[in-house]
Amino acid sequence: MKIQDIQTGELSLPLLRPFHTALRTVKRLSSVVVRVQSTTGETGYGEAPPTAAITGETKDSILSAIHSFIRPALLDMDLSNLEDVFSRLSSCVPKNHSAKAAVDIALYDLYGKHLGKPLYALLGGNRRELETSLTISLDTPDQMAEDSLNAIRKGCRILKLKLGRGGNMDIRRVSAVREAVGPQIRLWVDANQGWTPWEAILTVSAMEQMGLHVELVEQPVDARNLMGMQMVTRQVNTPVLADESVFSLLDAQKVLERNAADAINIKLMKTGGIHSALTLCETAAAHGAPCMMGCMLESKIAVSAAAHLAAAKSVFAWTDLDGPLLCRTDPFEGGAIFSPGKILLTDAPGLGITKTPCSRWSGS
Ligand code: MG
Repeated sequence: MKIQDIQTGELSLPLLRPFHTALRTVKRLSSVVVRVQSTTGETGYGEAPPTAAITGETKDSILSAIHSFIRPALLDMDLSNLEDVFSRLSSCVPKNHSAKAAVDIALYDLYGKHLGKPLYALLGGNRRELETSLTISLDTPDQMAEDSLNAIRKGCRILKLKLGRGGNMDIRRVSAVREAVGPQIRLWVDANQGWTPWEAILTVSAMEQMGLHVELVEQPVDARNLMGMQMVTRQVNTPVLADESVFSLLDAQKVLERNAADAINIKLMKTGGIHSALTLCETAAAHGAPCMMGCMLESKIAVSAAAHLAAAKSVFAWTDLDGPLLCRTDPFEGGAIFSPGKILLTDAPGLGITKTPCSRWSGS
């Protein structure tokens, strides 16, 4: 079975509401969709949303990396030797992690379809159900409390609150949400690098003293400031999760060896896909560090891939895969089934996605 073609299409889906974090505001989910076709007639799908604020990759850079470097490097390669294919995918161009992730996901989908196995089984797992958080966009304390109440009315039990610039306003946000949702709902907070180390220590310590029961604090300070991350991890009792600080295996090793976080948020768009994510999982497990499976603002293709990986590997203690639930419509056929707070994987081969809304493909 050889790789016959690698094509790209584009996707733009309206969100239920504009999505705000400390780094950006987004109104639509936009993605580059990849379609890989084999000489045996099977098709695999992958996806990369341009998330320049985090990955540095734009739509044009993703398309260019795929068509100028990845496609010429992989065409005609024999898929029965997956290691060779992934090694060439990783080395054909430096960085461009999301572009590589889109092709990596499509290759896994294709391989699963070829073997007639769902991806989670191909990765060695047997779990089919996951509990996921839902992200509450950064807003006023009252609005975030109202959004949180709406989420739990729909069935969510875990909320991830996006926070802003630290200090009183962020404490008021978490406090308002906790008051609205009661003690049973699990709360995580994500500062998206918005705090200085001192702001982080003061803000998180205040939340602890107020008994707000925040389970995790994600990326409190600038991604490059590992000394700051280390200070926060030492000074607060709430576990600290590294997100933007960790893209590669080397990043994870640096963070874990310096105790600059208690846990790692793994996202396929940062690692360059499932193949590299698997080595990151092993490193985290060797350090005794649990992981979160996270996503960017991704549609059902990439989030289904992440859900299969999270279901297959026990190092994932938390799942934050809500991209499809933030969209107004679900224009795909097949794939994982997303409902508020829950993801159900099906036994369909690969990712299980049989049709995407993309109608124009370029590449062949
Ligand atoms: Mg994050």
